[in-house]
Amino acid sequence: MTFELADRVQTVPPSGIRRFFEIAEERDDVISLGVGEPDFATPWAARDAAIASLEQGKTSYTANRGKRELRDAIADYVADRFDLGYDPGEEIIVTAGASEAVDLAFRAFVDPGDTVAIAQPSYISYEPGVIFAGGDVLPVPTKEDDDFRLTVDALEEAGAQDADVLVLCYPNNPTGAIMREADLEPIAEFVREHDQIVLSDEIYAELTYEGEHTSIATFEGMRERTIVFNGFSKAHAMTGLRLGYALGPADAIHAMNKIHQYAMLSAPTTAQHAALEALDSCEDDVREMVSQYDRRRQFVLSRFREIGMDVFEAKGAFYCFPEVPDGFTAEEFAEAVLHEQGVAVVPGDVFGAGGEGHLRVSYATGLQDLREAMNRLEAFVAAHG
Ligand code: PMP
Repeated sequence: MTFELADRVQTVPPSGIRRFFEIAEERDDVISLGVGEPDFATPWAARDAAIASLEQGKTSYTANRGKRELRDAIADYVADRFDLGYDPGEEIIVTAGASEAVDLAFRAFVDPGDTVAIAQPSYISYEPGVIFAGGDVLPVPTKEDDDFRLTVDALEEAGAQDADVLVLCYPNNPTGAIMREADLEPIAEFVREHDQIVLSDEIYAELTYEGEHTSIATFEGMRERTIVFNGFSKAHAMTGLRLGYALGPADAIHAMNKIHQYAMLSAPTTAQHAALEALDSCEDDVREMVSQYDRRRQFVLSRFREIGMDVFEAKGAFYCFPEVPDGFTAEEFAEAVLHEQGVAVVPGDVFGAGGEGHLRVSYATGLQDLREAMNRLEAFVAAHG
């Protein structure tokens, strides 16, 4: 007997990133610039808090929306850092990673036949999430000429005025693009004009270099139509602890919690203890990690320019997005540089429209490995130039 799979599962292709990891894992000389997670371990204070909670036997479920103390701390943190005001009682839900929060939003707000516009290139989970929810994806390609920022022209060209939902991810995975206040203003106006909902994945907000992160939810008339996602995976180096959250108007968060309470019950309890401590006492650790990412960012950008590969000035997250030299597709380049030089990078096409001809290069790797990887890339480009 074979399992009969649901159509929506069959139509979604397997992740294009995994394939490269599988090849990379077969060799022990590969330097991976392919990963999308911090190379740092979780700050000790947060780990200690997790350990202490286990020692004290705090291993039960929490409230569906997460421990009240943690929601209070999240409310204070987002108010302080990003000027976002949310009521911890009604407008915050703690989830198993930002991933769960994004999935809950698609399931709570997307009906079959609804159109979800996604500014691309972007994180690989949005498109499958929309399909699993029964919605139709409308890719909105961004352009290198715009430094991969979303523009109203790009929205109009893609026909996004008819979309029901718009998905944004800034600072962006995979390009490292950010959107400043002046860039977001016309997007907010477009969204209000066409009466859309915004799902804004701001998980890299802390990893904004040169200036501060601005959330689209802070613009007039946007709070009531926006869900903001954030979490502890990136800034607090807690990927494996699986903890994120969503912020939004009470009725929207209620709807997401309705799904969450049946599907998940509550986010991991041990991780909630770690997260509370992370917000309480790990600000210096975050600042230190961000400053190391920034140093690596500048190093990688300058090395790409020396090598002669075009790369735009990424200002957020921990990725650069250089152009593939003539004569290669992104996939051919990624495959050849992996085989010949043992450097793993991800072809930009994997991240959707606008990613073709580019590579995602993660600098969530120590400087020593980054130096060696950039030397190998230089040798590769010289050999094929
Ligand atoms: N959003 C973006 C843009 C990401 O890059 C990632 C992780 N790669 C996630 C969400 C998932 O985060 P979490 O670990 O909190 O589920």
